[in-house]
Amino acid sequence: MTVAELRESPGETAASSVERFELETWRTRYGIVAGITSRTADFTLNGAPPTGTAAASWEALGHEFARDFPAVVVGYQSHGTAVLTHQAVSSPWTAWPDVDGHVTGERGLLLAVTVADCVPVYLAVPDRPVVGLLHAGWRGLAAGIIEAGVAAIRMLSEPSSDAIVSHCGIAICGDCYEVGPEVVLQVKGERATGPSRLDLREQILARLGRLGVADTTSSPWCTVHDGSRFHSHRGSHGRAGRMLAYVGMPSLDPASTSR
Ligand SMILES: [Zn+2]
Repeated sequence: MTVAELRESPGETAASSVERFELETWRTRYGIVAGITSRTADFTLNGAPPTGTAAASWEALGHEFARDFPAVVVGYQSHGTAVLTHQAVSSPWTAWPDVDGHVTGERGLLLAVTVADCVPVYLAVPDRPVVGLLHAGWRGLAAGIIEAGVAAIRMLSEPSSDAIVSHCGIAICGDCYEVGPEVVLQVKGERATGPSRLDLREQILARLGRLGVADTTSSPWCTVHDGSRFHSHRGSHGRAGRMLAYVGMPSLDPASTSR
């Protein structure tokens, strides 16, 4: 399967206090901010509000985004399939238990997931506009997070739900991700006799294709190959921090832009 490559880049964010890689074409073409932080910051959430260096990362990013995004939502992720649809949020920072995906049609609300090998899957219906973001590892994939996310986007964006754009972000590549037969069986429905390579992004793109999402791109970055830039759970033998992937439509409210 050939899918268009779309590379996240520092671009205009190079001077920011938290290093970020963004999809510049989403910003220029759709007015949507979509990106991910690097390994220079750590956004780990262990089922509770961040502490220590992670708290500092969250605070720095919150400050950076305060003008365009007065509110951020994130989940204490569980590799499940819960996708929340967010209306206007008044609290600056909200974390939801057991939530691995978010969608919204609200401006000024930044959707976020934490990752370090798992795939951040960005979704958008630019002409509404509506955006979504999913945390997809093999467990979430097997359980149906992609199907749940696309259903939530379609529910919110009807009747223009044909125009979904999606991007599989920075994650571990197929060459670097070896899994056992039990994982292959659950994700691909195939029987393997021994360890196999699994390309999570390829599997996600196949699912998106089956769901009728045709406008898809994929990141060429790998968290292990490009380990000097990104956190990798596998590459660090479980000692890595977490990157924060995010997507949102900046606030147009003059009151918030004058802060
Ligand atoms: Zn790799």
